[in-house]
Amino acid sequence: MFGVQKEWHAVASWTWNAQDETCGICRMAFDGCCPDCKLPGDDCPLIWGACNHAFHLHCILKWVNSQTSQAHCPMCRREWQFKG
Ligand SMILES: [Zn+2]
Ligand SMILES: [Zn+2]
Ligand SMILES: [Zn+2]
Repeated sequence: MFGVQKEWHAVASWTWNAQDETCGICRMAFDGCCPDCKLPGDDCPLIWGACNHAFHLHCILKWVNSQTSQAHCPMCRREWQFKG
């Protein structure tokens, strides 16, 4: 039993990842489509914000429309602006 020491790196080292593979709004994978669509692909594109977070276009549009004032990124809370 000597030398056994529990270490708890996991909690402290967790960070969100800009290269997330799932949409931060609907939690569906980026290689799939949003819950409103049946088929992934050109009909359900991904869109990036100025903060470099990506979402399904349909998800972020719904999010932006649900905000009463300036929309903020659901992931980082920066002011949401479509990139490009
Ligand atoms: Zn989504
Ligand atoms: Zn969609
Ligand atoms: Zn963001």
